[in-house]
Amino acid sequence: MNVQRFIGYANAYLINGTVLIDAGIDPRDISEPDFKSIELIILTHCHFDHTSAASAIAEVTGADIAIHSADFRLLGDDYATASTLFGEHAPQITPDTLLQGGETFEFDDLRLDVIHTPGHTPGGICIYESETGSLFSGDTIFPDGGIGRCDLGGDISALAHSIELLAALDVAILYPGHLDTTDTGVSAQIRSSLTHARGDNSCTPLYFTHKLYK
Ligand SMILES: [Zn+2]
Ligand SMILES: [Zn+2]
Repeated sequence: MNVQRFIGYANAYLINGTVLIDAGIDPRDISEPDFKSIELIILTHCHFDHTSAASAIAEVTGADIAIHSADFRLLGDDYATASTLFGEHAPQITPDTLLQGGETFEFDDLRLDVIHTPGHTPGGICIYESETGSLFSGDTIFPDGGIGRCDLGGDISALAHSIELLAALDVAILYPGHLDTTDTGVSAQIRSSLTHARGDNSCTPLYFTHKLYK
């Protein structure tokens, strides 16, 4: 599996030149020549920093857009998509596929499992590739025990339950929605995220040391 990372405000990841996980804010962040080969854009959640460029990329590539149904319902909402925090209106996105969790996308020998991980948003998802133990975690968890903020319409107990699901996976490489990828002691890092989520009863964003990610 080949993974290219594009860094904007949030990370976007292109897998095997075919599947784009999150789209970022600016389509120009997804550089040529990889752009044209994208067949599917999977949005980990509805927030502006992950979705804004999706329609522009889909228009150029003809790619389908997939998002969980619970976040699909929030797509037009300036507040629920955190667009107001960026001084913008909600991006106009028309998904082709609504997810529930439990789906598997297959592209040749690539298999990507969709895991519904509500908490940061109601329809947040993570994408897991079991062959290499790769987890694309969106804003559900970050390296070093980080967790997504819950004060943008999220739910901390749902987040803790979601991280329990992730802690049960065999994860060798974490590809988060913000910050760097990590392949060192990832299981311990996920357990640390779980500890943080279980310890927070106030649903306030706290567990990111230098920045609160949307
Ligand atoms: Zn984000
Ligand atoms: Zn977010």
